[in-house]
Amino acid sequence: MVRRLQAVFLAIPLVFGIGGCATNPITGRSQVMLVGDDEAARHSAQAYYQLLANAEKQHVLDDDPATVSRVRSIAQPLIAQAMALRSETRLWQWEVHVLKSDQVNAWCMAGGKIAVYTGLIEKIRPSDDELAQVLGHEIAHALLSHQAEKMSRVQLQKLGLTLGVLAGAVAGYNLSGAAGLADTVATIGLDLPNSRRAENEADAVGIELAAKAGYNPHAAVSLWEKMIAVGGSEGPDWLSTHPNPEQRLHNMRAKAQQLMPVYEAQRRTP
Ligand SMILES: [Zn+2]
Repeated sequence: MVRRLQAVFLAIPLVFGIGGCATNPITGRSQVMLVGDDEAARHSAQAYYQLLANAEKQHVLDDDPATVSRVRSIAQPLIAQAMALRSETRLWQWEVHVLKSDQVNAWCMAGGKIAVYTGLIEKIRPSDDELAQVLGHEIAHALLSHQAEKMSRVQLQKLGLTLGVLAGAVAGYNLSGAAGLADTVATIGLDLPNSRRAENEADAVGIELAAKAGYNPHAAVSLWEKMIAVGGSEGPDWLSTHPNPEQRLHNMRAKAQQLMPVYEAQRRTP
């Protein structure tokens, strides 16, 4: 029995590819990466183009040229800084689109596929510096491989359940119900919220990207205050998984102060 169970565990890399842990080049943190950046980017591109096609059919894609142009011109220097920070992202097919929607939302998928919702622009009324902070934070998630990490987490859960099924089968138990659950977990993988640690990382890297791109780091603080004021349950990723907003605000103020010299050297606004 022990030998058969060992065989099950030895089979893991065969079932799930080479995978394993990888050290993130920006944070130095070891991440479980059963799903790599390239794979996450491939899945994301598929989902992105599907979403854009649907948006176009519904006439909600890039419907206001002035807003699209504004969002793209704010994003462009941030993308340049992203490429400077992580050189392989020069190969990403970066794209920025605006979706007409009441939701206060923005995101950047693995591989640099970005969307900003008009609800964010209309309800928050961000300055260029503040919008740069939203984009910087979202781009940071992609640079830090957070989506690939989430997808890997789902794979791990699936792996755990699969192993349970295999071990259960070896031990004579029937856990086939758990296998069904694994499929459900996989399908919701892309929608999982980021962990609090991932959010803190994206805050720190995002505000730094923005400062290097010439956007005022204190705008991260004023943006966050506006976001809290708008509140509601339909918050963007930016508002999610932060059980301690005071602490986050405190961290942002400190980081903004620290980045002022970087910003002063690059500033875009008078
Ligand atoms: Zn986030």
